[in-house]
Amino acid sequence: MRKACYPGSFDPITNGHLDIAIRASNIFDEVYIIVSENIDKGKYMFTLEERMQMCKQTFKDYKNIKVVPGKGLTAYQAKELDCQAIIRGLRMVSDYEYEVQFAAINEYLEKDIDMVFLMARKEFSFISSTRVREIYQYHGEISHLVPKPVLEMFKKKKIEYFN
Ligand code: ADP
Repeated sequence: MRKACYPGSFDPITNGHLDIAIRASNIFDEVYIIVSENIDKGKYMFTLEERMQMCKQTFKDYKNIKVVPGKGLTAYQAKELDCQAIIRGLRMVSDYEYEVQFAAINEYLEKDIDMVFLMARKEFSFISSTRVREIYQYHGEISHLVPKPVLEMFKKKKIEYFN
């Protein structure tokens, strides 16, 4: 059984993340979406529970994609989940620098687990969670950028608008 995990903040999950997860699920027998609390990232717009809920609803029809909360170091959690690989998506050169470091740390922690990088499809390569939040807060249209459960969560949550 080939398993992989796809860690991220998913604040919120976007169509870009969705595309990477589905493509990974076509390569591996099982994919775990790890919804992490990354201390570097500062404040999130959505709580861990809300981010988990959006991911769970997004993947509810995908039998080999499971959503779990982040727990400690990703490399150790991947090992615990019996994963052979950690999936990451690459958009621009700017992603690369961060990912090189992440890959080196994971190699140091768990040599047997490989990083697998999937290139963002060009129609999704401009989408980031940060831009989605920003567009929404400035009253822009995000319905083409995120899965439906995310739209519903944005509507439900009291979000601070600008101007
Ligand atoms: P993190 O906090 O770990 O960077 P993100 O939720 O921002 O979490 O992203 C998780 C992973 O998904 C990263 O590898 C990121 O590069 C990738 N990713 C984010 N947006 C896209 C996109 N639009 N297309 C492809 N990959 C993406």
